[in-house]
Amino acid sequence: MPLVDLNQILPQARAEGRAVCAFNVVNCETVTAVLQAAAREQRPVICQVFHRLFDTGKAHYVAALVRHLAEQTNLKIALHLDHGQSLDHVEKAIAYGFTSVMFDGSTLPYDENIKQTSLAVKLAHDAGLTIEGEVGHIPYTENDKTPLPSAKEVLHFAQQTSVDALAAAVGTSHGFYKTIPVIRTELAKEIGEMVSIPLVLHGGSDTPDDKVQQVIVSGFAKLNIATEFMAEYQYALRDQIKANGERFVPVDLLMDPVVDRISELASRKIRLASMSQAVH
Ligand SMILES: [Zn+2]
Repeated sequence: MPLVDLNQILPQARAEGRAVCAFNVVNCETVTAVLQAAAREQRPVICQVFHRLFDTGKAHYVAALVRHLAEQTNLKIALHLDHGQSLDHVEKAIAYGFTSVMFDGSTLPYDENIKQTSLAVKLAHDAGLTIEGEVGHIPYTENDKTPLPSAKEVLHFAQQTSVDALAAAVGTSHGFYKTIPVIRTELAKEIGEMVSIPLVLHGGSDTPDDKVQQVIVSGFAKLNIATEFMAEYQYALRDQIKANGERFVPVDLLMDPVVDRISELASRKIRLASMSQAVH
């Protein structure tokens, strides 16, 4: 079926106390693995492309690949720009046939973030795309101690910008953790009680499963997985090359077990996010 946008999958997931997984895809193997996992689990999924790939043109071919494979399934698949940094990224996503974008103004002062995000919302909505914003910066290193937003700030940001989904910092960070993270599940609950649009959990990799589930039940209906997925790809490829030694193996055959392995990981994450929770 044709690609869907976030409004066709996230509100329902939130109402059911579930989340839809969003995996970062970069090439044929990653896209194939995600779609295979979605088919295995019979769940919707989001293929998202990091903003860097929009600066090199790679996002264009990845988009064509996702669209082509999604059209051959009966699954709800969304194609989303991850951490868009500028209106130029949003414009490129529209031109490449994405159904959704994220505008990340989280490094800007709060008021400027609202201003810039609102411009991106207009651009995206006028073109028929859904849009995710970010309030309170979700860090890339554990040394980044940007204060978490209050529930009131998250609500105010949602109302001022009219985003369709909102990433709110609740203590996770991007990448692998060096120390045990402090996930503020109470803050997540408070935000979920005040804000009715689907919320987004970034830094879902390497976060303990029970914490992820507690945050999901609070209304975080999109679970982003990038680092763990990418790392598994590299470990699987390394194992394949090691196992084959000096023997020549055509690349497509070399990659088949890699796809299987990352698809298994994607399935595990989809099952984790899909467990229906008691909705309150
Ligand atoms: Zn992120």
